[in-house]
Amino acid sequence: MAKAICFDMDGTIANLYEVEDWQEMLDNGSSLPYLMADPLYDMVELVNAIKDLQAAGWYIEVITWGSRTANKCQLEEIRQAKLEWLQAYEFPFDGFHCVKYGTTKAKTVVKYETGILIDDNEKIRKGWKLGNTLNPSENLIEELKKLL
Ligand SMILES: [Mg+2]
Repeated sequence: MAKAICFDMDGTIANLYEVEDWQEMLDNGSSLPYLMADPLYDMVELVNAIKDLQAAGWYIEVITWGSRTANKCQLEEIRQAKLEWLQAYEFPFDGFHCVKYGTTKAKTVVKYETGILIDDNEKIRKGWKLGNTLNPSENLIEELKKLL
């Protein structure tokens, strides 16, 4: 039975909302704030925890929205920026989905029978149907280790 842990990015692993003028820049079509965001965790510690989970049979999926105003072309730029960010921190993943703002996240990972969602947005967590959810602001790394 394939099982996945699904990570949001903005406000979950990437501190987008602390980037100065992030919303204005995104609304103006810039994808720079995604590259400028600092990580919200010690990425060495998080990456090690994720590698242990992968070794234990979990697939790691990243499911993240584009900005609220992005058109198709801008969404592609955002996709590249977010991939670049993940690669810069050597974040391990088996799948990456940068989807239109507002997309139902569970629809992007239908191949899994169980999925745990890690997302800072309570509304998105409540709409998740594949399994449990984790609030990343509550001892994320400890909670991940419990899944081993
Ligand atoms: Mg988020």
